[in-house]
Amino acid sequence: MSSEAVQEYTVAQGRAKSFYTRYERKDELQHQTHYCPGCGHGTVHKMLAHAIDELGVQDRTILIAPVGCAVFTYYYFDVGNVQAAHGRAPAVATAMKRSRPESIVISYQGDGDLSAIGAAEILHAANRGENISVIFVNNAIYSMTGGQAAPTTLIGQKSTTTPEGRSAMTEGYPLHVSELLATLEAPVYMERVGLGDNKQIAQATRAVRRAVENQTRGLGFSMVEVLSPCPTIWKMNPIDAQRWVRDVMEKTFPLGVFRDRTKETAPRHALRPAPALDAIPRLLGLAEEDLPADHAHTVARHREIDLQVRIAGFGGQGVLLLGEVLAEAGLDAGLEVSWLPSYGPEMRSGTSNCHVRLSSQPVDSPLVTVPSVLVAMNEPSLRKFDLTVRSGGWVIYNGDTFPADCMRDGVHVLALPFTRLAAELGDPRAANMVMLGALLEIDGVLPRASIEAALGRLVKNPRWIELDERALARGRELFKESLRQGSWAKESRAEA
Ligand code: SF4
Repeated sequence: MSSEAVQEYTVAQGRAKSFYTRYERKDELQHQTHYCPGCGHGTVHKMLAHAIDELGVQDRTILIAPVGCAVFTYYYFDVGNVQAAHGRAPAVATAMKRSRPESIVISYQGDGDLSAIGAAEILHAANRGENISVIFVNNAIYSMTGGQAAPTTLIGQKSTTTPEGRSAMTEGYPLHVSELLATLEAPVYMERVGLGDNKQIAQATRAVRRAVENQTRGLGFSMVEVLSPCPTIWKMNPIDAQRWVRDVMEKTFPLGVFRDRTKETAPRHALRPAPALDAIPRLLGLAEEDLPADHAHTVARHREIDLQVRIAGFGGQGVLLLGEVLAEAGLDAGLEVSWLPSYGPEMRSGTSNCHVRLSSQPVDSPLVTVPSVLVAMNEPSLRKFDLTVRSGGWVIYNGDTFPADCMRDGVHVLALPFTRLAAELGDPRAANMVMLGALLEIDGVLPRASIEAALGRLVKNPRWIELDERALARGRELFKESLRQGSWAKESRAEA
C-alpha cells in the first residue's frame, strides 16, 4: 500500500478522551490490558468511555468499580474512581450521588457481584429510583475466581461448582435481573443488550449512552444488562464465545427493553440535603434547651470526659449488663456513648467482655484497646487485659488477692472479693453492680440519677432493681473505705 493510499483513511473512532493515555501494568505486560483476548469488558469499557465523552461529563463522572474481573476499571477510565466492597457498588453509588448530586455516578458490575452478593443492594437502589446508571456485565459465571456458578449461570452450563451442569432442581433457575427489577415502580430505563455480533454491539452502544444520558437529565435509575463473552472461563476461542452469546445465552436472557419511562418521567428534584450533624440533636428533640432544666444531661456537659472501660469475665457474670448500665446512664447524662459487646458462642461460662466509652466529644471508635478502667471479673480476664490498661488507669479486680505478677507501675488496683460481698447482700450475681458502684466512685462521671434511670430501663424485676441499688451503694462504700485505708494503694506500686 502506498503512503498516499494510507493518507486517505480517517480514524472513525479513536481512543476515547475518558481513557487514560497509559495504564499501569508490569513492564512485560504493557502491550496488553488486564482483560483476556475476546473479553466483553474491553468492548463495554469502550462504549462507556465514548458515551462519557459525547455527553461531556468526564470531569464530573465517578465510576464505581466492582469486585470481579472489572475491578481494574480504575486503570483505564480517567474519571473519579472508587472501588467498592463486593456487591456494594449501588450503595456506594447512592452515597456518592446524594452527596454530590451534580456528579454522574456509574456503577459498573459483573453478574457475580451484582446478582449474588450484591442482590440486595441493586434491588433497593432500583426500588429507591436512585439517579444513577448501572452497567451490568453478565457473562453467566464467576470469572475472576475461576469459574464458579453464578445466579445467572444457564441450566446445563458447566462450572467448577456445577461440574455436571447447572440443574434447576439443585441450583435453581437463572436469575433474570432485568425482568425482576422491571417489576419495581421506580426504575426509569432497563434494557438487556448483547455483544453477540456487530448489530447487537451497535444496539449496546446506544443503550449504554442512554443510561448515562438519563442521569444527566436527572431522570432516575437506569440499568443496561450486557450479555458478554468470557472466552477464558467458557473455554472457547473469542469467536465461538461471541457466537455463544448470540446463539445460546440470548435464549435464556432475551434481549429487549424491559422498562422505558424516559419520555413521561420528569427530572427528579434534587434530594433534600441531609441535615448538618450538629443540627440532629435539635431535630430529634435532644438539644440541651429541649431537656428539662434539672435533667442530668446538663450536669455532664460541663466537663471534659473520656472514660474508656473494658469489662471482662465469664458469661453469666453480668459483664454485658454492667456495660449496658454504664452506657445507658451515660446517654441519660447527655454524653457521647458507645457499647460494644464481645462474647464466645457458649451461652454460659464462656468468656465475655465489652467495651464502653463515655465522652464529652463524639466517639471516634467503639473499640477500647487502651482502657482507663479495666473491670476484671475473674483471673483469666485480668491476665488477658491487664497489660492494656493505660498508665494512670485503674484495675477493679474480683478476687481475694491481686496476683503479684500482674502488678504494674502507674496502674491503680482495687482488688476485693466482689462475688462474696454480693452474696452477703443476698445474691452473688450482683457482684457486677458492686463493681460498677466502685467504678462510679473512681471518676464521679455519672450523676446518681442517671444510674437509677438506666437501671430502671434495663432491669425489669423490682426485686433485682432493689438489690442492684444496694449493690451499687455497697460498691461506692467499698471504694471509699479502701481509699481511706489505702488498701488499694498497697496492692499497687502505683502513685495515688
Ligand atoms: S476471565 Fe472472562 S471476564 Fe475475566 S477478563 Fe478473562 S474473559 Fe474477561
